[in-house]
Amino acid sequence: MSKIVLSTSAAHGRGVFASESIAAGEKILTFSGPVWHRSEADFTTYHLQIGEDLYLGPSSGLDDYVNHCCQPNSGFKDGLDLVALRDILPGEEITWDYSTAIDEADFEGFPCGCGAPACRERVVSFRHLPATGQEQLRPWLLPYLKAKYFGAI
Ligand SMILES: [Zn+2]
Repeated sequence: MSKIVLSTSAAHGRGVFASESIAAGEKILTFSGPVWHRSEADFTTYHLQIGEDLYLGPSSGLDDYVNHCCQPNSGFKDGLDLVALRDILPGEEITWDYSTAIDEADFEGFPCGCGAPACRERVVSFRHLPATGQEQLRPWLLPYLKAKYFGAI
């Protein structure tokens, strides 16, 4: 049974929130949606980069609404599963770091207002992070980025 709900926050507007306690390591949701090649992707709607030339379109599920944070409480594990990086309390917003998925050469990035003490102030492609930042995100990268940058799945 799902422990998350769609709601709104002052910081992000619409987002996904814990409706009950979620333990560290627990799976929160799995991203899904139509698989698009870049040439056929609709970038005006929700999309998630999952490969060099692959994207997931909107699933119409809660996965479309999880916001970015530079110090998130969830991250990818074993593919497209989003798992809790620490214990999450009811009412907390679920967030993940978009730079663990995005690696487009031409992604301009966007300003970040996540409010985390370690906010990077701009959400950018993984390739544009400093080496220390890349290393920090290594455990939670999508498999295609783990393989590309660290030679491992
Ligand atoms: Zn931030």
